[in-house]
Amino acid sequence: MLDIKSIPAFNDNYIWLIKNSDQRCAVVDPGDAAPVLEYLQQHDLSLEAILITHHHNDHIGGIAELVRQFPEVDVVGPANEPVPTLTHPVEGGDQIELFGEIFFVLGLEGHTLGHIGYVGDGKLFCGDVLFAAGCGRVFEGTMEQMHTSLSKLAALPEETEIYCAHEYTASNVAFALAVEPDNEQLQQFRDEVIRLRAQNQPTLPTTLRREKWINPFLRTDQQTVIRSVATRTQQTDSLAIFTALREWKNEF
Ligand SMILES: [Zn+2]
Repeated sequence: MLDIKSIPAFNDNYIWLIKNSDQRCAVVDPGDAAPVLEYLQQHDLSLEAILITHHHNDHIGGIAELVRQFPEVDVVGPANEPVPTLTHPVEGGDQIELFGEIFFVLGLEGHTLGHIGYVGDGKLFCGDVLFAAGCGRVFEGTMEQMHTSLSKLAALPEETEIYCAHEYTASNVAFALAVEPDNEQLQQFRDEVIRLRAQNQPTLPTTLRREKWINPFLRTDQQTVIRSVATRTQQTDSLAIFTALREWKNEF
């Protein structure tokens, strides 16, 4: 089992650090090198790999400095996006080995056109696709692509731990409660989020099991969710409900 630590960056990013048992580690989406270098030094770790999910600068901005400090580091990332200094371009369907664990690469288009995720050791690193109680904005792709990507994630084992790249949980929960005010699991999660944030603790990882109970974007087949968007769409298929939810969230 790999050990995962969170390194906060900027206002609300997390750079996830994946550690094995002998002081070697990898980081996911290092938007900033400084907090990573500080953590590595404090914990006497050597950086063996960088995993990138997509090309936005708050996910890749630290690569150059980390490569300068660790010239041997493997830089794994999306083959179809403009990410500098990749040593291992990958795409959906590929797999990589990390500290003895196999990670599968998932194509997760929508937020960006070449967005990928990594799933292995019961853990999912999904960048800006699925968030706790929410999902990423659809910037480059189509609603249909994002919906397909979320459906891929929903098919993973329910105990999968979800390590997304942002602490957006409190605002996502507020939206989710607007969609499903009577969802008791969601109300309980809101209380947990308030407690964790008051202590400045991450609300992540979440699990797929929990998300299926609380995340409206994974609950497009629920009557409560369908009723909530009835003024926005007459259709009831999952893509139409997802699209209505995503447009509502954009203006929420
Ligand atoms: Zn992004």
